[in-house]
Amino acid sequence: MEPKMKQGDALLIVDVQRDFCSGGALPVPGGDDVVPVLNRWIKAALDAGVIIYASRDWHPQAHLSFRERGGPWPPHCIQDTVGAQFHHNLRLPPSAIVVSKGVRFDKDQNSAFDDTGLAVELRRRGVRRIWVGGLAQDVCVRATALDAVRAEFEVHLVAGATKPVRPEDGERALAEMRRAGVIITESRIIE
Ligand SMILES: [Zn+2]
Repeated sequence: MEPKMKQGDALLIVDVQRDFCSGGALPVPGGDDVVPVLNRWIKAALDAGVIIYASRDWHPQAHLSFRERGGPWPPHCIQDTVGAQFHHNLRLPPSAIVVSKGVRFDKDQNSAFDDTGLAVELRRRGVRRIWVGGLAQDVCVRATALDAVRAEFEVHLVAGATKPVRPEDGERALAEMRRAGVIITESRIIE
């Protein structure tokens, strides 16, 4: 039987920001395609009274993850820039809670759980099960889902709500997540 969102769940949307979508500074191929899928999950979460979190990459200028500092990425998601905004078609409700990461000067934070206090926040609200989608599958979604499992949440990755930077890395990330205990779920929502 297919799962259905219920009390004790959270929907965690990872980094669906303009810089990671078409026309952005670090576009994930097909990144925009996750938006309509996530909008259906947002609606279902609201209908079920399930709390919604949206993480965002929120870098200071000249962050150490940028190439100019020897990091792997072009400058992206710089605080208060258009590129750091959530995708303009993502229907995040006012009740959604924003988790900012990548804000530190001394390290990057791919995972929404890395030094953000998110696990404590979720436990405080009685969350046991997390539905995860967003960008990118092989980078921040991977790191977030693996950390969520380590923090002993039941983690479901919504497969159609995430896209990888590179397809082969996406396949590898999916296998790694599955081995770690992440449940890979189709994109359908059971109302
Ligand atoms: Zn970043």
